[in-house]
Amino acid sequence: LDIIGGVEPRIADATRQELTDQRESLKLIASENYASLPTLMTMGTWFSDKYAEGTVGHRFYAGCQNVDTVESVAAEHARELFGAEYAYVQPHSGIDANLVAYWAILNKRIESPELERLGAKTVNDLSEEDWETLRKTFNSQRVMGMSLDAGGHLTHGFRHNISGKMFHQRSYGTDPESQLIDYDKLRADAKEFKPLILIAGYSAYPRRVNFAKMREIADEVGATLFVDMAHFAGLVAGKVLTGEENPIAYADVVASTTHKSLRGPRGGFVLSTAEYAPSIDKGCPMVLGGPLSHVMAAKAVAFAEARQESFQAYAQNVADNAQSLAEGLMRRGVKLVTGGTDNHLNLLDVTSSFGLTGRQAESALLDSGVVTNRNSIPNDPNGAWYTSGVRIGTPALTSRGFGADEFDTVAELIVDVLKNTTPVTASTGKPGKAKYALADGVAQRTKDASAEL
Ligand code: PLP
Repeated sequence: LDIIGGVEPRIADATRQELTDQRESLKLIASENYASLPTLMTMGTWFSDKYAEGTVGHRFYAGCQNVDTVESVAAEHARELFGAEYAYVQPHSGIDANLVAYWAILNKRIESPELERLGAKTVNDLSEEDWETLRKTFNSQRVMGMSLDAGGHLTHGFRHNISGKMFHQRSYGTDPESQLIDYDKLRADAKEFKPLILIAGYSAYPRRVNFAKMREIADEVGATLFVDMAHFAGLVAGKVLTGEENPIAYADVVASTTHKSLRGPRGGFVLSTAEYAPSIDKGCPMVLGGPLSHVMAAKAVAFAEARQESFQAYAQNVADNAQSLAEGLMRRGVKLVTGGTDNHLNLLDVTSSFGLTGRQAESALLDSGVVTNRNSIPNDPNGAWYTSGVRIGTPALTSRGFGADEFDTVAELIVDVLKNTTPVTASTGKPGKAKYALADGVAQRTKDASAEL
């Protein structure tokens, strides 16, 4: 930090402060974690200086022999860790990984057969007219993914994301009573809509998904089954999700981030069957430019860590701790979406439980050193900005060694803060959705109790 401070002291200070903040607060954001020191250190090397567009052994730049080693080792670990036929480790993030996956599926299902039909080798051989027709065909494809308020992700075909501009999307939600995926309704909707891609995966659904059922539905409608396991990749790597809950065994293509429950560097990757591999290998230049070689190296280190037996114990603890947290919250009267959890996250209905919006609850918790994020719940009455939910995940604090007892205390602290928070009426006289008052002394009492954990 002294070296950095010699160039730009404000960045050194912010970096130092970030370490303090991350150590002193209770980090409960479901998509965050603490990467290991080897993983963090691997990201800060001169591999950052190297350009390496292309794929292993087939680069558009000279001098990529060491990047080739890095990329091959990372891909080998990813294949072994997940039992996948093919792994592509270049995507810079989860959104990039999903884009690579979508375009690979379009390449395999639409572009390649069309080129063959027209007797063309590449798109360069197409006339302007045929190229225009092909582009329109891409644009008329359909995808089905989980709705945002049920826990889906923006990249699953939503209007405000490029995926929603590429595809026609229809979402599937959850059952209004149980708040669980209704596979029968999903099947009926898929039969009517006939998507090219059926997307499974989520950011805020506190339950496991049955990928065998998803596969059956995809097969019935001729869809490619794509799973976005960004959130629960750590539970797959750690063999908590096996059998029908293991996406690799059922999906054609699986994309993920590396930095959430998997505890790696920030980044993405794609796994697939051998059949889809040639299309995914076109990620660069289709969607990506030069890969982040330093991050690919850190992915290799994190994948190697996840292949150690201790990672399986970690992943099991993540899931067990989420249950302990759920029990602790429900025992203290908190309503959880779906009535519990069986993965790494809980979704608290703070409007029903405490009369607060998600925004008010998130802010009061942050004042008390408890870092969470507000999140929509199914059919959210407060909309996507203020929300009625708070999402709470266990991967980061489990990395700090928290177990059932500590998570029971975390539940106690959360409930103490939220019970002592009241909405403040807005200047319009209507109940405010953002302003809140936290009773005196609660923030400090929570911080003191957290410091003991
Ligand atoms: N997919 C899912 C399910 C996610 O939850 C996220 C991030 O929250 C992403 C994709 C995007 O990942 P990134 O932020 O690395 O682009």
